Amino acid sequence: MIDKEHPDSLSPFSLSLQSATDDPTLRILGEAVASAYDAVMITDAVLDSPGPHIVFVNAAFERMSGWSAEELKTLTPRVMQGPETDRATLQRLRAALVVGEPFQGSTVNYRRDGSPFIMEWSISSVKDEYGAPRYFVAVQRDITAFRRRLADAEEGARTDALTGLANRRAYDARLSAMLAQPDLVLGLLAMDIDRFKQVNDTYGHGAGDAVLIEVSRRMSRIAAATPGALLARTGGEEFSLLVPCTDAKQSIGELAEAVRASVAAGPIAIDSGALNVTISIGVASTTSPMATAEMLSRAADRALYRAKTGGRNRVEVTVGDGGAA
Ligand code: GH3
Ligand code: MG
Ligand code: MG
Repeated sequence: MIDKEHPDSLSPFSLSLQSATDDPTLRILGEAVASAYDAVMITDAVLDSPGPHIVFVNAAFERMSGWSAEELKTLTPRVMQGPETDRATLQRLRAALVVGEPFQGSTVNYRRDGSPFIMEWSISSVKDEYGAPRYFVAVQRDITAFRRRLADAEEGARTDALTGLANRRAYDARLSAMLAQPDLVLGLLAMDIDRFKQVNDTYGHGAGDAVLIEVSRRMSRIAAATPGALLARTGGEEFSLLVPCTDAKQSIGELAEAVRASVAAGPIAIDSGALNVTISIGVASTTSPMATAEMLSRAADRALYRAKTGGRNRVEVTVGDGGAA
């Protein structure tokens, strides 16, 4: 977007470049670069310390960096680097420039006031008559806002909107990653709210949603105290807790019991009063290194079924991962 407070203007620096020629084509080129929407910086091709000298920046560069063309004239682009500037990217940049190859990349840079921004840029070289780099032309863009939107979108794609828990997709990814760790014994709690349809039918969908949110909150408190655990909403009123088991089978059964008890601990407030809600839990864990996600889920679901048919508001543990069944 155009910064209204800093209308495009040619810096004194670019004006001098422009007036240096009477050739109309060169003048158009000069004006085009000076008023380009992307930030443009031209340096000489000295790569040794203290680095290339800046010979030109356009108005967009001034706006992006907070430095004026006048101030930058005696400086090197390295004044815009700082602690979070990616060293590997700089090494790649140098390697490309040394051999006169173009470069593209992104890194954190710093404005004149010290504030960081993510800058994406390309550099090409202007060569002399012998083919050696004479100037470097850098075209830069502040992509901080774009990157933030991307991160938000990625976060949104992994999160259940109602409860804020991990969604099925995030759960599947974590399950695969955990199963790929050969020595990790993995516990799975398959959890399902008891008679949830009745809540919806009797008190309405809004009350049902309130129950889902509060049940999630109560489960989360237990999950948060379990290192490496992932709690996800894997279906409408179904939740899964993945736990890396460090020792005995018994401990995952105890964890399941703690989750069950936390949900049943007290009535849940809805608009028209308060409800007692319970969940049933089926527990399974990987016993063989060959266990697949499907085997583990099937074993937990079988245990959950037993918990339901056995009266609900209870925990059932399956021994083994169902591989032999
Ligand atoms: P059971 O004890 O056997 O689990 O009985 P149940 O009634 O909980 O089982 P069932 O699977 O029949 O009901 C699940 C209900 O969950 C049906 C569906 O309308 C409801 N549901 C699924 N997602 C949502 C949601 O996001 N919000 C609300 N309010 N209800 C949902
Ligand atoms: Mg269900
Ligand atoms: Mg249910």
